[in-house]
Amino acid sequence: MSEAPSLHSRRSITLRFDIPISKTSEFWESLKNGKFVTTKCTKCGNVSFPPQADCPKCMSGEAQWVVLGREATLVTFTHVRTAPASFAGKEPYIIGIGELSGGTKVLAWLEGVRPEDAKPGMKLRVEPRTSEEGNPYYVFVGA
Ligand SMILES: [Zn+2]
Repeated sequence: MSEAPSLHSRRSITLRFDIPISKTSEFWESLKNGKFVTTKCTKCGNVSFPPQADCPKCMSGEAQWVVLGREATLVTFTHVRTAPASFAGKEPYIIGIGELSGGTKVLAWLEGVRPEDAKPGMKLRVEPRTSEEGNPYYVFVGA
């Protein structure tokens, strides 16, 4: 019996963050400059997040980069107390899915939000961050 992937499984977290760097370097370069971008299919107009080299809807390989809005609404979240190995050593954290104004859903850490304060429907903002190793990433903060 196979288990459906959920936010609670290590599998979904790994999948979401394993973006092929070679095809989406533009995303990380933009993030370094404080811009939050993703791919939009030039054939069918589908906006993918995380960025996709090939459109998951029509399989077209032609995409353009578009700037995403930073305002989001929290759809759902999970408070992770037992972190996967790659995040071992971090404090317990909250991962949430936020919906941007255009309907794009984004999975990210909620930074500076206490578990008891996190509620679906709360307003968030996407903020670029740089890790201690100098790698760009992004988080949600309360708006
Ligand atoms: Zn498409």
